[in-house]
Amino acid sequence: MKTRTWIILILLIAAISSFTLSYFLPHHQVITRTVTETVEVAPGVSDERYEEAVRELLQHVKEWVESRRGLRFKEDVEMVVLTREWVVEHWGVGGLNITQVKLEESILKSLFIIPEDFNLTDFKVRASGYMVAGAADHRIYVVKEFFNPSDKVAAGATLAHELAHILQGEYFSLPRPGSTDEKNALSALVEGEAGLVGSQYLIEHGGPRGLSSESIFEPLEALWLFPYIHGEPFVRYVYEQSGWSMVEALYRDPPKSTAQILHPEKYLGGWKPIRVDPPPHPGECWKIILQDTMGEFFVRQVLRAHLDGLLANKSAEGWRGDVLQLYERGNGYMLRWKILWENEGEAMEFTEAFIKLLENTGARKIYEKAWIAGGRIVEFQVEGQAALITVIYTTQ
Ligand SMILES: [Zn+2]
Repeated sequence: MKTRTWIILILLIAAISSFTLSYFLPHHQVITRTVTETVEVAPGVSDERYEEAVRELLQHVKEWVESRRGLRFKEDVEMVVLTREWVVEHWGVGGLNITQVKLEESILKSLFIIPEDFNLTDFKVRASGYMVAGAADHRIYVVKEFFNPSDKVAAGATLAHELAHILQGEYFSLPRPGSTDEKNALSALVEGEAGLVGSQYLIEHGGPRGLSSESIFEPLEALWLFPYIHGEPFVRYVYEQSGWSMVEALYRDPPKSTAQILHPEKYLGGWKPIRVDPPPHPGECWKIILQDTMGEFFVRQVLRAHLDGLLANKSAEGWRGDVLQLYERGNGYMLRWKILWENEGEAMEFTEAFIKLLENTGARKIYEKAWIAGGRIVEFQVEGQAALITVIYTTQ
């Protein structure tokens, strides 16, 4: 991480089934949030006094959330205090589906987001060690090493965020997402609302405004933190139009795509992504192992990994829909990613950016529209509004 010292990630184990549906993390949803500094619990504070302070703060914040959010808790909220070591062991190492993480790693490497020698499993385990608090059902989890209840402003804002999640579980439900893009959009709604509640608490109690900017994160971190970085600005945009009632209406017609989160004005104007038909099957010997829609934000991170951030944002805009497929044949793989653009101009803009990206990765052109990069063959075609990227590679 570029700013390791001030980033604390909060992980939510979402037992609320309507809120879970992560392709990459099917058993639990990783929920993160940034706060302004790490906190240390003063040595010598007894467990009993610590837990008492947590409960006292919880009571105060619960009342604050009920009055500001305009919703009452239907059930009691329980607090569970965890240690960092426990979280890493159970929710970091123990919570990963290694097969799926390996597939995800393979896709990220094929599209040059992470380098060849990167270990995604290690990254995910390390990240779990930054959890501060989480919520599931009617329970809030706090990690003792990072959560100091005598710091009423920062710890209170964290609780306000988690309590907002509990209210979401009591009052709203969301559809099961059909793709990574839709999953990220739904997470952005949920985290955006909780983030806004947390920020309002912070500001009302004299804390700093703590908005995160995408540019300080590496593309992989940005992909992971998308619901936190872009969820709150999205929900704030809607909230400023017409308050919480309009935010609540979002749950009845939730966003389906990261493009809607990135451009809330388009979403409110009725813009919707298009479902893209995959290209024809590559041949009988290839077996499909994955099909997904990645979305504008993913396209942006692919570009950002090797291009200037502004150029990446601009070139990813105009996304209309996509379909990504992964095929297997023996130890060979074929990734195909068809991206549909608003018009031919947008498709050309993406084409130019992607070819520049290939050049920046040191890819060698072997013939018209084909390159070799890091042991992979990359083909790029564009036809009208549709771009098609094909990556072929083998594993040892
Ligand atoms: Zn959250």
